[in-house]
Amino acid sequence: MKNVNDLLSDPARRKSVEAFRLFLQLTGLAIFVYFGSQSTIYVILLSVPLALLFGPVYCGWMCPRGLFQDIFARLGRKVLGKRYNVAVPRKYHPLLMYSRYALMLFVLVTLILSELGLLPESTGILILEGLVVIMVVSILLSFFVDRAACKYFCKEGAAAGLLNLVSRKKIRRAASLCISCGICDRVCPMWIEISNREIVTDHSCVCCFKCVQACPVDALSIDE
Ligand code: SF4
Ligand code: SF4
Ligand code: SF4
Repeated sequence: MKNVNDLLSDPARRKSVEAFRLFLQLTGLAIFVYFGSQSTIYVILLSVPLALLFGPVYCGWMCPRGLFQDIFARLGRKVLGKRYNVAVPRKYHPLLMYSRYALMLFVLVTLILSELGLLPESTGILILEGLVVIMVVSILLSFFVDRAACKYFCKEGAAAGLLNLVSRKKIRRAASLCISCGICDRVCPMWIEISNREIVTDHSCVCCFKCVQACPVDALSIDE
């Protein structure tokens, strides 16, 4: 029986793997539509244990916002061609990527202060409305920049991403096999420089495993 690495790295199975990703993302969307705000609890129950084992695989494989960003990214690539992914200069990305942690902290502190009665009652509602606007706009921005919402605006992604640092399974690069083609760096939606690492433990990895799929010499693999 084929293991996960075999399935991901087999070019003949790429379409099936992507169809499976789409199926899971649509399932995530159906859960969100059916359960509404209650879906958060189911998502936490599902995604946290998975994240402790493998990292935030929910982000790479099931998040409905990820689905919409992937759709806009596909459209953006078709329409913009080489002008896709240039709206944010790469040199600012290492700094900008911390914006989602800043947003997470801001929301957390404001909601706590609001619950303690130290801020007007309407503050919590204003924050939640603001977050919806930010999320919708940032998903649309994926037409210009891959996974813009995940990279810069998602507080849940920030929390899940931190679990990358403690998750048991890692992506490893076999330096002896690597031909330094840089394909893994180019396909990574989170702009992680994979080709110069031995182990990918980046806090922003969404565990989409597109790097593993794309490596032409199977130098990348997930821990068995
Ligand atoms: S980072 Fe946020 S928007 Fe992106 S896939 Fe994860 S939960 Fe979804
Ligand atoms: S490092 Fe690999 S698994 Fe992580 S986000 Fe980039 S392409 Fe996806
Ligand atoms: S895609 Fe594979 S061979 Fe190319 S740089 Fe990345 S790890 Fe090395």
